[in-house]
Amino acid sequence: MATILDGVAAGGGIAIAPVYRLGESRFTVKAKYTDHVNHEVSRLHDSFSLARRELEDLHRRAHQKMGEKAATVIDAQLAIAKDQTFESEIVDAIQRYSTTAAWTASQRIDHYLTIFKNQSASQGNYYHSRGVALQDFKKRLLAHLLDEELPDLGKLDHRAIIVAHQLTPTDIIQLNPQLVAGIVTDVGGRAAHFLVMSKEMRFPTVVDTKVVTERAATDMVAIIDGTHGRVILQPTPQQIDDYQRKASQQSAHLRELGVLKNQETVSADGHHFEVAANLALARESDELATSGAEGVGLFRSEFLFLHQKNLPDEESQFWAYRKVLLAAGNQRVVIRTLDVGGDKQLPQVPIEHEHNPFLGMRGLRVSLAYPELFRTQLRALLRASAYGRLAIMFPMVATVDEFRRAQQMVDQEKKHLIQEGIPVGQEYEVGAMIEIPAAVAMADQLAQYADFFSIGTNDLIQYLFAVDRGNEHVASLYQSLHPAVLRAVKQTIDCAHAEGKWIGMCGEMATIPAAVPLLAAMGLDEFSVPLGQILPIRSQIRRLKVRQLQPLIHHALAAHSPAEVRALVDQLTSYMK
Ligand code: PEP
Ligand code: MG
Repeated sequence: MATILDGVAAGGGIAIAPVYRLGESRFTVKAKYTDHVNHEVSRLHDSFSLARRELEDLHRRAHQKMGEKAATVIDAQLAIAKDQTFESEIVDAIQRYSTTAAWTASQRIDHYLTIFKNQSASQGNYYHSRGVALQDFKKRLLAHLLDEELPDLGKLDHRAIIVAHQLTPTDIIQLNPQLVAGIVTDVGGRAAHFLVMSKEMRFPTVVDTKVVTERAATDMVAIIDGTHGRVILQPTPQQIDDYQRKASQQSAHLRELGVLKNQETVSADGHHFEVAANLALARESDELATSGAEGVGLFRSEFLFLHQKNLPDEESQFWAYRKVLLAAGNQRVVIRTLDVGGDKQLPQVPIEHEHNPFLGMRGLRVSLAYPELFRTQLRALLRASAYGRLAIMFPMVATVDEFRRAQQMVDQEKKHLIQEGIPVGQEYEVGAMIEIPAAVAMADQLAQYADFFSIGTNDLIQYLFAVDRGNEHVASLYQSLHPAVLRAVKQTIDCAHAEGKWIGMCGEMATIPAAVPLLAAMGLDEFSVPLGQILPIRSQIRRLKVRQLQPLIHHALAAHSPAEVRALVDQLTSYMK
């Protein structure tokens, strides 16, 4: 009998393959006291140095296989392995209490895990990530101290669906991508770190099934549907046939979409839109041409700054921005200025401990507080503007005053560069991200100064509902299709248009199939989405009849719940599918 499990859809596509179930490594530390303190201390040092070597090797492999962004996920663990103070703290405890290395290390790590757990409950993602890294490091260190083996996914020798309670970033790196048909886990959460990497590798993935490890066994055949979040264990021949058919329809659809690359994004009734790319690394701009992107709607410049020993100087920033502008040719590139703070900490910028980092020094506030840092970035951007169509965008704008101050700094740096005889583009734009409710409320005034807006729904929704975007306990309140969000979006679009300015959306809402018709009918000019979503969104827009959808807006704004909104969209778009 087939078993059907529903979880959270975390990656596209269908996979049919045998299961490879990964056991949980629960190491038991038996011996508490020792008579051989020196021996235990040297075991500890050896295990730390083995862990360091393994992590350095994993870091190299991650970099080769998946690039810089994936490799940075290992950095957090490597930093723990290299933390001399932490290592000495454990040595001191071993010497003081004559306890074994395994027992002492385990106690110290658990102590910090409790602190991170409490901090993450009150301060969100940053501490959650540190906790995940430390937990992963604990397994590695204990495996060495207890002479146990870590489950090695590198040993997988046939194509399989990986089933695990939870995966870590290091597990993903050990995988041979050719052999991974898909991934299913018991636990999940949209912000889980391994997900960032499994998305990069485009594995069909379903998370948060709660019980998959209880129900699945190695070699059992399974189907996973990463688009709809469904897992079928021991499927019937009929189910296998059905899903094989769906899988070949999906690949045929993707091939068909390729045709759209050279066509404009025009709705069935002649309305023009742009579908641009969200990028985090300059290197990703190599994929612009093949992705079908109409420019870049969000370049998250902070990835040039994060996980670096030194802050990037003007010259290295200039080359990175120039690369993206050249890759985009005559299409627009929106580069967002440094957006750190919250869960993206930049150790080189001293920000005092904050009780609510998401409500503290984030985005433009950091740039205004550290003008030299900001001016360096602005100079690099302005110099790069001579090589393409640049749009500079400020993140986390809360007030008109902040926007004006930042805009004036752009003007001043432009003047300095011209005085120095350095070329600056003639036609760059300066715009604001709308992701704080106060900016929505003041959008009419902001639109008088900004050349454009881009709505950052990832943050806007968290601030509208007061729900931490990374906290799974309040995830049910994070509702992109809620009328509260639609009202804020509509108001912002209307304010931009009233001043004759263009407006885009670079938050995840722009990728939600049920939101796209609403956004198109509200008049959003640009959808900025991850590279892999560009063609599907362009294809969806080409089937829409925007004029017929416009009456829907009034009803959607008057709805009470996301479910009502979804039903309205379904009703009006069913014939456009
Ligand atoms: C957003 O907030 O919607 C956004 C696009 O920015 P980030 O997710 O980087 O905060
Ligand atoms: Mg944001």
